Amino acid sequence: MPRVKWLGHAAFYIEIDGVSILVDPWITNPLSPYRSLDAFAKDHPKIDYVIVTHDHGDHLGEAVEILKRYPDAKVVALYELALKIGEEAGAQNRAIGTNIGGPVKLPGITLVFTPAEHSSSIAHPSGVVIIGSNASIYHAGDTGLFAEMSFIAELYSPTLALLPIGGHFTMGIKEAVKAVELLKPRYVIPMHYNTFELIKADPEEFAKLVKEKGLPTEVKILKPGEVFEF
Ligand code: ZN
Repeated sequence: MPRVKWLGHAAFYIEIDGVSILVDPWITNPLSPYRSLDAFAKDHPKIDYVIVTHDHGDHLGEAVEILKRYPDAKVVALYELALKIGEEAGAQNRAIGTNIGGPVKLPGITLVFTPAEHSSSIAHPSGVVIIGSNASIYHAGDTGLFAEMSFIAELYSPTLALLPIGGHFTMGIKEAVKAVELLKPRYVIPMHYNTFELIKADPEEFAKLVKEKGLPTEVKILKPGEVFEF
């Protein structure tokens, strides 16, 4: 059964098919239950892959330190970004450069990087679909709403979608509800809200609107540090 732990902001720790994955590892974000990488490492002895959706500091987080701390961990991101992180960590041999489009087949797991309507300094901003044997998880990264989300639904049928709802830099609640309509996931977990004042949003309002639309998606509102199994 896949397990997903929200660490606050856009940071998730995911276990699927025995593979341990960190996405957008800002472990010490203001909402996170962990104030240091040491504290995090005590609870998480194994990390196989660190996925970074784009190079903004609140998504890159502690990726470099994590590669140093976990000698078996590999970073997976769009080509230029993966290489940069690998280089900074002195771990070029553990950088898996990818790009938006098709399947990235890794031992134990398949990833598909998707577009994200956002900005970045190096490499395109992305989202990622993590495809396991019985479930798939779409992490949207930082993005505005885009119509091709319907292709993600059609091709990968995400069991779970992780969607930003905080507005200002990403979709707000209204846009995220539309994203749920396009993606048709079985579950959605809202993210990228209430980390700081600019992205204040009420996840209960998001849940209410998804319900009112009659969408067959269950909204799971997690507290930072809380785990969802499905
Ligand atoms: Zn960003």
